[in-house]
Amino acid sequence: MARRRQIYEGKAKILYEGPEPGTLIQYFKDDATAFNAQKRGTINGKGVLNNRISEHVFTLLGNIGVPHHFIRRLNMREQLIRQVEIVPIEVIVRNVAAGTLSKRLGIEEGTQLPRTLIEYCYKDDALGDPLVAEEHIACFSWCSQDELHDIQDMAIRINDFMSGMFAAVGIRLVDFKLEFGRLYEGDFSRIILADEISPDGCRLWDMTTNEKLDKDRFRRDLGGEVEAYQEVARRLGLLPEGGDHTVLDLDSHRKKRDK
Ligand code: 5GP
Repeated sequence: MARRRQIYEGKAKILYEGPEPGTLIQYFKDDATAFNAQKRGTINGKGVLNNRISEHVFTLLGNIGVPHHFIRRLNMREQLIRQVEIVPIEVIVRNVAAGTLSKRLGIEEGTQLPRTLIEYCYKDDALGDPLVAEEHIACFSWCSQDELHDIQDMAIRINDFMSGMFAAVGIRLVDFKLEFGRLYEGDFSRIILADEISPDGCRLWDMTTNEKLDKDRFRRDLGGEVEAYQEVARRLGLLPEGGDHTVLDLDSHRKKRDK
C-alpha cells in the first residue's frame, strides 16, 4: 500500500496530503507540550476527543456562517480539511484574566475583563510565539488590513457563540486561541478559520467549582487531564451518558481511581 505524504508535523497534529487537490488530512495525536515544548507528555485519548470536539465546534460555527477549513471527520483521529495558507498569527481571545495576561500585567487569575480582549502572537516556535501589536502585523505584512478586520470580526463572533455554547453546559470560556488561513479561489483569497478548537487551546472552567477542564491540568501538573477532556466532550453531548464518563468532581474521581 502506498504511504501517504506527510506535509507537516506539529506538536499535537500531523497533516497529510488529502485525497483531492486542495484538501489535507488532519491527524490528532495524544502528545501534549507546554511552555514552548519544554514540557512534554502524553494525554491518552486526547487526540480522539479533540478530533470530535473540534468537529462539533467547527460544524456549529459553520451553521452560523463562520467560514472554516473543516470538511468532515474521517475516523477517530482524522478529519478532512481544506488546504489553506496559514496566517502566521495566533489570535488570543480573552474574557477572564488568566495565563500570560495575568503574569504580564499582574491581574489576578479569574478577574472578569471589562471587555473582550484580542491579542496577537507571532507564530514562531523558536521565538516562543511572542506577543505582537497590530502595528507589527502591518509593518511585516503578516496579513493585510482587510484580512485583519475579517479576522477580528470572526474572532468576536466565534467568542460570542462559544461563550454561549459553553455557558449552556456550565463551562466558563476564559480564553482561547484561534488560527486563520487564506483559501485561494482563482486570483482571490479569503480568510477562513483553520487549525482546531479543543481544550488544548482554550481555558474552560467549571462555572460553579472553577475546576479547570483544559490543558492547564497538564501545564500545571494538576492531573486528571483525560477526565477533564472527557468531561468537556460529555457535557457537549459527544459521549454516551452514564458509564465511566460522568466525571463531575475530578478530585473525588481521581481518589477513587487511584485507590
Ligand atoms: P496564554 O497566553 O495565557 O498562555 O494562553 C491564552 C490562551 O491561548 C489559552 O487558552 C491557551 O490554551 C491558548 N494558547 C496560547 N498559545 C497556544 C499554543 O501555542 N498552543 C495552544 N494549543 N494553545 C495556545
